[in-house]
Amino acid sequence: MNPVDPEEFRKQGHMIVDFLADYYTKVSNFPVRSQVEPNYLRKHLPDSAPLVPEPIESILEDVQEHIIPGITHWMSPNYYAYFPSSGSVAGFMGEMLSSGLNVVGFNWISSPAATELETIVMDWLGEVLKLPQQFLYKSSNNNGGGVLLGTTCEAVLCTLVAARDKKLRQIGRDNIGKLVVYGSDQTHSSFGKAAQIAGKGIQNVRAIKTKRSNSFALKADSLLSTIHSDVKNGLIPIYLCATVGTTATTSIDPLMELCDVAKEYEIWVHVDAAYAGSACICPEFRSCIDGIEGANSFSFNAHKWFLTNLACCCLWVKDHNALTKSLSTNPEFLRNKASESKQVIDYKDWQITLSRKFNALKLWLVLRSYGVENLRNFLRSHVNMAMTFEGLVKLDKRFEIVVPRKFSLVCFRVSPYNNNNWDDNYHNGHDDYGKLVNDDYLVNELNRKLLESINNSGKVYMTHGEVEGAFMIRFAIGATLTEEHHVIMAWKLIQEHADSLLGSS
Ligand code: PLP
Repeated sequence: MNPVDPEEFRKQGHMIVDFLADYYTKVSNFPVRSQVEPNYLRKHLPDSAPLVPEPIESILEDVQEHIIPGITHWMSPNYYAYFPSSGSVAGFMGEMLSSGLNVVGFNWISSPAATELETIVMDWLGEVLKLPQQFLYKSSNNNGGGVLLGTTCEAVLCTLVAARDKKLRQIGRDNIGKLVVYGSDQTHSSFGKAAQIAGKGIQNVRAIKTKRSNSFALKADSLLSTIHSDVKNGLIPIYLCATVGTTATTSIDPLMELCDVAKEYEIWVHVDAAYAGSACICPEFRSCIDGIEGANSFSFNAHKWFLTNLACCCLWVKDHNALTKSLSTNPEFLRNKASESKQVIDYKDWQITLSRKFNALKLWLVLRSYGVENLRNFLRSHVNMAMTFEGLVKLDKRFEIVVPRKFSLVCFRVSPYNNNNWDDNYHNGHDDYGKLVNDDYLVNELNRKLLESINNSGKVYMTHGEVEGAFMIRFAIGATLTEEHHVIMAWKLIQEHADSLLGSS
């Protein structure tokens, strides 16, 4: 057996590339959200692993027959759920190169190019985003810099641990129970999880209330009054997770004002721009991160909306010593001259795990293959399609836009107010089981039904969000293959399903 036989690699590699190329041409024909039932796969696969080799041909047949039906097609042009994940040829090729070389670049000596390319590419991308110089390795006296992690959850956890330890070094570890961290009720759930994982678990996690009247952004005065009351109660603020492009509605927390408040209390500010960070490479969106100079760290997911195949989260920090003081390890087997010279970065000390992929190759290929101008135009095309979709929704009086669109996500729902057939459709205030319920409940249920019937059709896939108790449908444009005609088709489909539930417009 030679598991890296070059001829086998060539043959099988071509087969897989052909398989995927065919998949991309056919992907719009598959039901976007997989329609299988739970545990479907066990019925199709043997109970135990094979003892003897099987040919790639029969494995690929099984992929086609049994795996593809259980795939939700994130690469479909009709995919509008969550935030899409935009794969690309360059992203795939970068991943393939990285997997093929199979280096584990935990420290500089384990693969110097992996470390050095990462530092350079993160400086490039930081410059494209117009991040302040302190976030760039080359222009911060090597204090700042960027690192590639898997996901935003890791970025939040690493920076939270750094902030925690920075404070505990000043006040003593016994005070861990007094630490308090801040986000809003729109902050991603990974924040609460990171606080849980950090040490014994940071018990004081504030999810400060936001309001629709303020587009669900975290207001600086709400942050300040929450901090005041915590400080009065003897607690110690350490960390704020501000979001640019929240998951539910893409709202934008005002960084400048929040950072001013945070500065007063020496609070570490992390800016989570998991989805919307990509858009900030366009000059017209850069103002969304105005005030970033007051933050300590910033991250976005290149695998969401930057043509970089999963997983690739870009994190920049102003002071990487804060990370390494918390996250570095120095076992004997990793000791080497380069690390001891302090001339090199060992990225293992900027992240949770030791082993790491050569993800910089992927991002490098994306930046070089498309160029910044094309990447900007790719993002703009999605924003334009979202504007078109928003316009179509506004023309149909049965629907309302729940929050004004900012990027390529449109949040909409069947409006409780504009429906002539309201009483017929809502059984005069009773649910499907005849129970008397309030209007808010009924309108939410109607939107839920509408979404489910559309997704069951398999023709498009959208997911939902909820703000101030209102269930809304999220139409998130960002899949690589989506074009305007797909968006128009999706809107027609939504209207057809609304016709059956509500009666025609
Ligand atoms: N933060 C925001 C604003 C998000 O929208 C998401 C995912 O959609 C995340 C964090 C979580 O990202 P990840 O899965 O990379 O941890």
